[in-house]
Amino acid sequence: MSFNVAIDGPAGAGKSTIAKQVARKMNLIYVDTGAMYRAIGLYFIRENISPDETDRIEEVCRKADVTIRYEKGEQIVCLNGENVNAWLRTEEVSRMSSRISVFPEVRAKLRQLQCRLAADEDVIMDGRDIGTCVLPDADVKIYLTASVEVRAKRRYEELQAKGTECSLEEIMKEIADRDHRDMTREESPLRQAEDAVLVDTSDMGIEEVAAEIIRICGEKRGWK
Ligand code: C5P
Repeated sequence: MSFNVAIDGPAGAGKSTIAKQVARKMNLIYVDTGAMYRAIGLYFIRENISPDETDRIEEVCRKADVTIRYEKGEQIVCLNGENVNAWLRTEEVSRMSSRISVFPEVRAKLRQLQCRLAADEDVIMDGRDIGTCVLPDADVKIYLTASVEVRAKRRYEELQAKGTECSLEEIMKEIADRDHRDMTREESPLRQAEDAVLVDTSDMGIEEVAAEIIRICGEKRGWK
């Protein structure tokens, strides 16, 4: 039986940073499910398909083949065989992935891939619906969150450090929009699973959060 950790929460709560650290320290494979939705979003952009063309969703699901492999511990997302990691982090892809993630056909397709990965390996998987839908029997479930202000400020500082021009207000609006879409969609909306541990990172540092999650995982795995 594989050991599975589910981490859910809104955009910018620190899920990927924390999950990567926990994965390294506990020898788990980190599975970033957002990157899979981003790859499908990229397909829409590249093929010039609008999310309003709902009659083409089935075609997208048939034609956009998403696979995952690992190189030196890093997750590589392939879209129809091409490594697309370098294209997934733009604001355009963020917006598109959030819009296309509402489609049940897209979710069913990616959920299949996610379940297969978790069945075969010890994983820490982050996303929006992992504890509630993808891995309802996960050994550990964490709901990681922080206030919109704190999440927007983190993103702003990240972009500033990269030398990208941006406005804090616009980022805050973008995050609030994504939260709204993720939490109110009909198909597997973002919410805390009943048996998930809530961790609010607004006033916590990365190390502190990672240590807390490692402690919870260690207890479950029978480590002291
Ligand atoms: O986590 P990340 O910001 O990379 O995810 C991109 C988008 O994919 C999110 O805004 C969300 O709408 C969607 N997503 C999802 N379910 C997941 C992971 C991501 O709906 N498990």
